[in-house]
Amino acid sequence: MTVDTLDQLRLDNSFAALPKAFYTRLEPQPLTAPRLLHANEQAGALIGLSRQALHSDAFLRVVSGQQPLPGGQTLASVYSGHQFGVWAGQLGDGRAHLLGEVVGPQGNWELQLKGAGMTPYSRMADGRAVLRSSVREYLASEAMHGLGIPTTRALALVVSDDPVMRETVETAAIVTRMSPSFVRFGSFEHWSSRRQPEELRILADYVIDKFYPACREAQGGVAGPEGALLRLLAEVTRRTALLMADWQAVGFCHGVMNTDNMSILGLTLDYGPYGFMDAFRLDHICNHSDSEGRYAWNRQPSVALWNLYRLGGSLHALVPDVDALRSVLDGYEATFTRAFHQRMAAKLGLHDWRIDDEPLLDDLLRLMHDNRADFTLTFRRLADAVRGQAQGFQDLFIDRDAALAWYERLAARHAQDGAAGDAQARAAAMDAVNPLYILRNHLAEQAIQAAKAGSAEDIDILLGLLRDPYTEQPGREAYAALPPDWAGGIEVSCSS
Ligand code: AMP
Ligand code: MG
Repeated sequence: MTVDTLDQLRLDNSFAALPKAFYTRLEPQPLTAPRLLHANEQAGALIGLSRQALHSDAFLRVVSGQQPLPGGQTLASVYSGHQFGVWAGQLGDGRAHLLGEVVGPQGNWELQLKGAGMTPYSRMADGRAVLRSSVREYLASEAMHGLGIPTTRALALVVSDDPVMRETVETAAIVTRMSPSFVRFGSFEHWSSRRQPEELRILADYVIDKFYPACREAQGGVAGPEGALLRLLAEVTRRTALLMADWQAVGFCHGVMNTDNMSILGLTLDYGPYGFMDAFRLDHICNHSDSEGRYAWNRQPSVALWNLYRLGGSLHALVPDVDALRSVLDGYEATFTRAFHQRMAAKLGLHDWRIDDEPLLDDLLRLMHDNRADFTLTFRRLADAVRGQAQGFQDLFIDRDAALAWYERLAARHAQDGAAGDAQARAAAMDAVNPLYILRNHLAEQAIQAAKAGSAEDIDILLGLLRDPYTEQPGREAYAALPPDWAGGIEVSCSS
């Protein structure tokens, strides 16, 4: 069922029903003369908004911060967190306004404005988001969804000429994000660091009751509230491990894996200086502000575990049994490894993962690293090699002979892997898991430049490709090509 006006939406506002200490009620600060650059009909459908509704004046007033969502209770929430491995104390929604929670035809979705002005948690910053980073978040969340990776979504992108000071003067934009919840690991750290176990318990109960009700069932495990918390940690651990396997398998680097950017639902959250890798490096760092490489590609899985330890540590106030907490976290590595191997086996066209596939994969990654081979195209062109054309795959490597020699090892392995069927079927299965289109930095940059000139055409084209990144679309060769030379000069940093 879809509706044409916002006041027909049904709202729940469950977060606003938490005690006052969890948030501040407030009004957004609207942009001057806002323009709707793009509305996402697919996200709109999740909450039952028609195309007409998304292009109404009333919708623009809401997503530009001029008017509250009818029936919503606008608020900014408080959280804390570890940034770059260091305790940062209180953070909170410094530039995010939660408008309310819509009860949609496809579940409940919170709507949040990012960049709609200062809040009590803005600290020294301005509460704004620039067009550049807003386009990047808008595109990335939909690209992630197209890849089948859990993520927050993006509903609308509003722009204005309001100036925003960063390294240079830029212009302001607001992305309306959607998620079942924006609760973070840092939301838990907030209450444990303040030694307020009551609030911690309220938050945990809220998250369990709303998102993880099965954790209340003991099923032979620890009974009572402590058991539920252990099962919550186990489920968040499992989802986070799967998310890391997903990220690694598409060459995604988040860039700022601080605990305040870790979703309690295991979603990709807070797109800033992220990057989908072009030339592969094991220790690729996508964020120019990350001088130590804490969040390099090959460190992401272990950083996620470090972050889970901070979450587990927060729950310690309610679960005195440290060994029980630790043993839950001990499950992370096996879950991650199994999921990563499964995904990599599929990418390599293998029916299942065998222990001796480990050196095969390691040698490929090492070869890609040494040759700076393109991550996305390396895997995509493996299917062409399976079809009998290894040239395109080899072309990605400076050492073409080494690439071919590696491919012959894979082909030998395929020959033993009867279950995956004939070459055509195997190649088709590989194409279904190895994207052809990926949100490369330079593609986002082109969309940003077009957006600056007032055009959303590039955003439209990109969304059309990234929503189904596995299917080749005629006439779109340029979007599947290696990055141009200037792409190497794009710098993304924490400035957003
Ligand atoms: P991030 O690393 O972008 O996830 O942000 C870390 C913290 O800084 C969060 O509490 C954000 O709300 C806050 N923050 C980032 N940029 C701004 C801004 N321009 N204005 C206010 N708060 C901000
Ligand atoms: Mg953040």
